[in-house]
Amino acid sequence: MQCYLCGSGKNHTREGKVRDNPSIKIFECDECGLVFLESQKTSEEFYKDNGMC
Ligand SMILES: [Zn+2]
Repeated sequence: MQCYLCGSGKNHTREGKVRDNPSIKIFECDECGLVFLESQKTSEEFYKDNGMC
């Protein structure tokens, strides 16, 4: 998985589950701190619920 914001390949899995699909892993970019999902389908609701913007 590459961060789609900064393009870094450095990231780690993050605690937590996606409400709509618990099987999707959550990653956090080590470079910019962006939190993104295993699938490229990012949900706006997901970020909203987690206070990300
Ligand atoms: Zn990044």
